[in-house]
Amino acid sequence: MKKTILRVALVSVAALSVGSPALAEHSWGTYHWSKGTNQLGVTVGDNVDSRWDQYLVVALGVDASGNPFEGAKPSWNDSSVIASPLVAGATDPKRCKAAAGKIEVCNARYGRTGWLGVAGISISGGHIVSGYTKVNDTYFDTAKYNTPGWRRLVMCQEIGHDYGLGHTDETFANTNHGTCMDYTDDPDGTIKNQLSNEYQNAHDFVQLETIYGHSHQATTNFGERKLGAAPAAAEAALEGGNSPADWGRAVAYDGKGRPHIFEKNEGGRKIITHVFWTLEHKGGGSQDH
Ligand SMILES: [Zn+2]
Ligand SMILES: [Zn+2]
Repeated sequence: MKKTILRVALVSVAALSVGSPALAEHSWGTYHWSKGTNQLGVTVGDNVDSRWDQYLVVALGVDASGNPFEGAKPSWNDSSVIASPLVAGATDPKRCKAAAGKIEVCNARYGRTGWLGVAGISISGGHIVSGYTKVNDTYFDTAKYNTPGWRRLVMCQEIGHDYGLGHTDETFANTNHGTCMDYTDDPDGTIKNQLSNEYQNAHDFVQLETIYGHSHQATTNFGERKLGAAPAAAEAALEGGNSPADWGRAVAYDGKGRPHIFEKNEGGRKIITHVFWTLEHKGGGSQDH
């Protein structure tokens, strides 16, 4: 355990000494799932309908039959530390409730909430224990957002949050970084003739290696946990809600000054919610300070 802490500390120092602001800002702290020496095997539940299936498969890089989806573009399973199978969904997409040890991905018409996508993670004992991604058809059914670019960007980014990654940049109108973890108003890069933000880039994979560069004992690993082990109370299923009232206090603001990361404590666990607002959404502002 001591060794693990030391290693995390060394990694942090190394990241800082590189002097890269992008690296330093990329993760939410260093939230990560617990894993052993194997790759992270947390399952991703498919609760999306046929309009979203292809985007989920492309973002994850594996299909529902367990076959790798070898597109020309990167995917989360291209990471050396991730081996996430796509499995049948276990929740009503409207609620998108994720049990301990699982990521659930959902789409529905969540209403005029102001957001395109939301990712939530539950943290217990210092590690992510469940996560969900929701994409809002109320906006993706409109001409502006019903494009492959917007769908790829938001699906890729929200699942990235479920693995513990943060954004590389939070300003919408500046130059694309070429990763889905960068906010943009030009997802596929065709409006401003720039890099596409629809997929992961090499920096995302380096960041994952950094935050997953240590191992834990098998009893706490969701990838390796023995079947039938009872979850702790703090590992109750995660259900996120659709509005700031459900998410707790605002802890960070996006480039348009809107609160986009929320935190709350509930029953011995911390729940963090990351919100991808539409370009037009006003409100939130800073009244939650
Ligand atoms: Zn750890
Ligand atoms: Zn985000």
